[in-house]
Parts: sequence; structure tokens; C-alpha cells
Amino acid sequence: MTAILDLTPQAATTALAEWLAARGEAAYRVTQLVPRLWERPVRLWADATELPKALREALDAEWPLGVMTEETRQASSDGTVKYLWRLPDGEAVESVLIPEGSRRTLCISSQAGCPLRCAFCATGTMGLLRNLAPWEIAGQVRELLLAPEPVKPTNVVFMGMGEPLLNWEAVSTALTLLNAPDALGIGARHITVSTVGIVPALAQLAKRPEQFRLAISLHAATSETRRGIMPVDRKYPLADVMKAIAAFQRRVTFEYVMIAGTNDRDEDLVALAALAKKAGALVNLLPLHPGGAIPLEPSSRHRMAVFLDRLKGYGVEAVLRRSRGLDIAAACGQLRIARPGPGEEVAPQAHRDVHEAPRVRHRPRRPHP
Ligand code: SF4
Repeated sequence: MTAILDLTPQAATTALAEWLAARGEAAYRVTQLVPRLWERPVRLWADATELPKALREALDAEWPLGVMTEETRQASSDGTVKYLWRLPDGEAVESVLIPEGSRRTLCISSQAGCPLRCAFCATGTMGLLRNLAPWEIAGQVRELLLAPEPVKPTNVVFMGMGEPLLNWEAVSTALTLLNAPDALGIGARHITVSTVGIVPALAQLAKRPEQFRLAISLHAATSETRRGIMPVDRKYPLADVMKAIAAFQRRVTFEYVMIAGTNDRDEDLVALAALAKKAGALVNLLPLHPGGAIPLEPSSRHRMAVFLDRLKGYGVEAVLRRSRGLDIAAACGQLRIARPGPGEEVAPQAHRDVHEAPRVRHRPRRPHP
């Protein structure tokens, strides 16, 4: 049987209505059940005490709710909180909650591990363990609502573990669960999909009518440089990614983690300015998170400041982000790597990042890097 939390609210309503009818239950019960999935979630149906006990027991037996367990929580001195969730099959994924003012941005994972092996990313060192199901993706928000001190994220970014567009079917359903008023109800403009640019799935995302935001993990403005740090460019070259994002009727953000001597040279600056102007993109410059891949060095503060000024001089809107959660290894993948499952190898510490956006609405950042 399909997991009830893997269904959109509409599909769940249909499935539960049919099930209630088959049991001879009153039809109105469905209006009590569906809000308990996402709007006012319960960990177990047994906790929905407004329902008769027999019905709760039948629901827990036939429509069990997915459960992920908070295995680790680390709070940074800057307010960032990082969670490691243990999934029912023993895999683990991370989320990072980044508060700033009235905004609470949750950075969520879409895969356990990732097959793309970007040079600056801790998650990429794991390889792909498996795709997450829709409930495991949107469920990272749900778990915060179920916490003893509930937290409702105002913004969600797909910048945790995994490449979301390599898990498009599940991510598409999760986007509905995050956004639908009768599910988690987070505005589409407050939900950002961050991708390296998986071209076929970009076309699918562009067809969604909601105004989900798109961030491209660019990190280099030519294929030649990009291939050195992001092997995916061989399959989906930068030029094809740029063509695909032209189909979006909304502004795109370029994420650009600054790596000394690799992508912060003058020629990189000129190429990035040209690309950003052509795409009308906002550029987020990101410091390379400490603890990154050993051969990579962060650009100096001075170089980042010069890079930013010169980008602006070219007429590009650009922002230099600051790192968050430095004291808790908030680069995505770092916590998961630090705590492997039973019998697993410990992958080398590489790098993944979570940053914070002072001016743009949704916004942490790993160099999805
Ligand atoms: S940066 Fe993103 S796409 Fe690259 S390896 Fe890490 S998770 Fe995968």
C-alpha cells in the first residue's frame, strides 16, 4: 500500500474517503483525518484523540504514518541548528535550520548521499545511497512541527544532501506537500530548488505553475573550469543548463562558492559577469566552508570583496553571503559523515556549505553546492 504521507492532499483525501466508505464510517471523518497528515500533524494516529479509538487503531494498522527519528541535533552559537534524521531503513539525512529575524529557513535533503561528487562537497564523497520518498523530504519540515517545542519554517531550500532534480518525481510531490494550503502551506516564493542543472528535470520544474524559486549551483562560469570541480558538467554542459533556465519566467540565482585559484581569477570574473547579465541572474558569492575538500582553499576575504565589487561594476546584482553554523560542521553532509550507520565506512571529510542570506528571502547555502 502507498504510504499515506507520500500522497498529495488531494490524493490522500480520495484514498482515505474510499477507505472510510469501505469500512462503513461516516464520510465527514475524512475532514478530520487529512489535516492530521500535514496541517496539524500527529506522529501516530493514536495521538489524534478526537477520533474514536477503534478508528485510530485501524488507521495505524492500515495507513501508518512515516516516522523519522531525530538522532542528533547540534545548535550553533549563531542560532543555526543542524539535525540528523534516521530513516526507517537506517539511512540518515540532514536538515539545517537557519533563523534570522522573523525568518526561519530550513535547508532540506532530497537524497541520502549524492552521485555527483562535486569536489567541494561532503555529501558527494558518499555516493548515492538512495533517493528519498516524498514524505521523507517534506517530512523534515513535519518533524519540526512535531517537536516538543514546535518550529514552523517560513522558508525552505533544497540545499541539503542530494541533487533534487535527480529525484524529480519525489521532489515534485514534496513541493506540493510543502506548498499546498491543506498541507504545510509554505508560499512557493519561499521555497527554493537548488540544482546543479539536470536539464530534463529543469524543463519539468519550469512547467510547474507555482512560483518556486530556482537557484543554480554554478561555481564556475565556463564548462572548462566547471568540469574540474563538478563532473556533472560533462553530462549537462553549462551551455545546455543556460538554455534550460531561459524557460523560467522568473529570476534565477547563481550560487558561486569561491575557491582560491580555481574560480576566483580575473578571467572567471569576466565570464561570470557575462553569464549573469545574459541570464539576468542574482549572484550569491559564498565563502568555501572550512573543513572542505583538502585540495581546495577558500578565496581570501580581500579577493572576495574585490570580486564582489567588480561584479557590481559590470552591472551584476551580487551579494556576498556569510557562513553559518561554522562551529557545528553545518556544511551539509558533514554530520552524516561524522556519524555513519552501523557497519558503514567513514568517508573522508570534504565540504558542503550552508549560508545565510541577509537580503534575499529564502536563503542558506551549501554550495549545492
Ligand atoms: S554539491 Fe550537491 S550535487 Fe554536488 S555532490 Fe554535493 S549534494 Fe551532490
